[in-house]
This record gives sequence, structure tokens and C-alpha cells, in this order.
Amino acid sequence: MHVLVLGGTTEARRLAELLHPRPDLRVTSSLAGRVSAPRLPPGEVRIGGFGGADGMARWLREHAVDAVIDATHPFAERISFNAAGAAATTHVPLLALRRPGWVPGEGDDWRTVDDLREAAEAVRTVGGGGRRVFLTTGRMGLAAFAHIDDAHFLVRSVDAPEPPTPPHMELLLDRGPFTLDGERALLARHRVDVLVTKDSGGAATAPKLTAAREAGIPVIVVRRPPTPAGVPVAATVEEAAAWVQARSAAVSG
Ligand code: NAP
Repeated sequence: MHVLVLGGTTEARRLAELLHPRPDLRVTSSLAGRVSAPRLPPGEVRIGGFGGADGMARWLREHAVDAVIDATHPFAERISFNAAGAAATTHVPLLALRRPGWVPGEGDDWRTVDDLREAAEAVRTVGGGGRRVFLTTGRMGLAAFAHIDDAHFLVRSVDAPEPPTPPHMELLLDRGPFTLDGERALLARHRVDVLVTKDSGGAATAPKLTAAREAGIPVIVVRRPPTPAGVPVAATVEEAAAWVQARSAAVSG
């Protein structure tokens, strides 16, 4: 049974690690190619776009794929809709692996916004117009903040962003997982007034939220985009592996 894992996340890599040793499976992971030195999963890896939903449907047929797991990032909206389209055309079973979103707890000061444009608006008002902003929304989409010239941005991303970027910006090239002690020290060292994050979920990047709560720093949280209707969802890597197991049992009769 040939399984295609649409990746670019820790969960996708962990799923490939879990499935790869199984003799009944051939596992191919697909990466977009955005990161210059990606952590590669075991098994076969293909890199680069498919050419939309039609291109992915073609790829599924040409490579005799029996099941697809969309383990892309919750904010990678286009590839998820492409996967739903390709699966519908080819009748290849599709499962979405989505880590649950973060939930505010006691003492959190969160403002939820719909997108990066709204996040940029909120930066001007939240925390009394916080002047030192810790931006952890990734290197794409910084254009939404590029017009803000009266705030200092600390931008953390895996690779350097491309212009346009905010005029007053310090870049921190790093990749999770991050520790609570590290995040505490970072917020203090950079005198951060406000944190901006996507609701990515997961443990690897959650310590910044705890550190912000402890320091009384408000957090602007970008809400997740919608997911394609009708696609079953697994919340954990283990659940997704069990789904593959069930499909494999069905295929082998
Ligand atoms: P996106 O907007 O949903 O996708 C844009 C295009 O990139 C897709 O139409 C597809 O091109 C290609 N693509 C995306 N993911 C792919 C994959 N796994 N394999 C092959 N092609 C892929 O995606 P994005 O937000 O730019 O994210 C790109 C990748 O980075 C994803 O794999 C995602 O898991 C990872 N990532 C994203 C975020 C985020 O915040 N968005 C954060 C961490 C990691 P074609 O139409 O040509 O097939």
C-alpha cells in the first residue's frame, strides 16, 4: 500500500517515522520546498508543488497512491483544499492530521483576530500600542506589518523573510522546539510588549504562550483558516497511523 504524507510539520515527520518500518507500506512524504534545509523524514521524499488539485490528482494516479494523509500545517490552506479536490477526483481516501489549536487558560490575555492584516491593526492598540512586538507568524506574510514604522519587531523564523518587512526589525533565525526557560529569557531580554502568533497548536512552540502569561504580556492570536468539509480529521500521529493500519487491512483483504 502506497501512502502519501503531505508534510512540512513535526507531526508529518513523526508519522513517516512510525509508518516507514512497516513492510506492508511504501511511504512517500511531500514537502513544499519552502525551507532551505528541511529535516527530512525517512522513506521516499518528493519536494515541490504538484501543480494544483489537478496536478496532485495526476500524481496520485501515476504513483498508484492508495491513501493520502494531509499532515500539513493548519495554516497551509491551499494545499489542504487541493488534497480534498484531488482525493475527490481520484477516489483515493484522505485523512487530515491536525494538531488541536491552543486554548487560553487562567491569566492569559489573548486577542483573537482573523488574519495577519487584522493582527497588524491590533498591534497598534493592544497593550497600550505595544512598541516592542515579538512576531512568530513565520517569514511569509510580513508584508502585512511592513507599514508599521513606529514599533520595533522581533521576528523569529526558520529562514530569513523576503521584503517587504517592517522598517524596524530584528531577525532571529531559529526553529522549535523551544523551552519555557528560553522563551522567558527571550521576552525579558528583548523587553517584549506584545506577542503575535498563529494558532498553530502543538507543544513545540507553546512555551512562548506560558512565558507571555507569566510576564503579563498580551498575545494576538490569528485564528485558523477553515478546513475542507467532509475530510475526516485525526488529532494525533497515533490516530493517523491507526487509520492507515485499518486501510492497509482493508486493501490486503
Ligand atoms: P499553502 O499556501 O497551502 O500552499 C501553497 C502551494 O504550495 C500549494 O498550492 C502547493 O503547490 C505547494 N505546497 C504546499 N505544501 C506542500 C506540500 N507539503 N507538498 C507539495 N507541495 C506543497 O502552503 P504554505 O502555507 O505556503 O505552506 C507550505 C508548507 O510549509 C506546507 O507544507 C506546510 O505544512 C509548511 N508550513 C506552513 C506553515 C504556515 O504557517 N503556513 C507553517 C509551518 C510549516 P501546488 O499547488 O503547485 O501543488
